[in-house]
Amino acid sequence: MKNVDFSRFNNIISLTSYFNTKEKCQQAIIDSRWSDGDVVCPYCGEHHCSKRSDGRFRCNHCLKNFSCLVGTIFENTKLPLIKWFVAMYLISSHKKGISSHQLSRDLDITQASAWYMLQKIRLLYPQSDAEAFEGAVECDEVYMRQGEVEAQIHENAPYPRSVNADQDSGVRHDGAHLHRGREG
Ligand SMILES: [Zn+2]
Repeated sequence: MKNVDFSRFNNIISLTSYFNTKEKCQQAIIDSRWSDGDVVCPYCGEHHCSKRSDGRFRCNHCLKNFSCLVGTIFENTKLPLIKWFVAMYLISSHKKGISSHQLSRDLDITQASAWYMLQKIRLLYPQSDAEAFEGAVECDEVYMRQGEVEAQIHENAPYPRSVNADQDSGVRHDGAHLHRGREG
């Protein structure tokens, strides 16, 4: 999967100036998920999908409709996509990590929402991604070694999904990999 290339954005201003509509954000996600234009149904895995006039897709096999967000960390989110993009940009820029408190201030969102975003976005980064998380990442003022973070997410999450009302759709999240300036 090809990643969204944030390398052409030198700062948050250029990033937010470009991604100034929901549609542009969605197109970036579409390009990162299905870089060759071959849309894969997140429900049945078939490749024969058609684009609908409303921008969503329809699987010609199982006949289900879906948006480009289904099966990604952005699915069912109530936060604007641009805030997710800025969060990813900030996280990839802060080599030593960024706290949910800081992220909540930067994005003007609640600390609980920022915490939720951090957990989701960290899932996008493979353990070996030393560029993004060099050995340790900051987790709410506590520095944890890599690996412990993953364990914390799954076993110990103090904020349940009600924080963001994201619902488990039964779709396996393949994670749109949106790394700054990296190719997958
Ligand atoms: Zn399908």
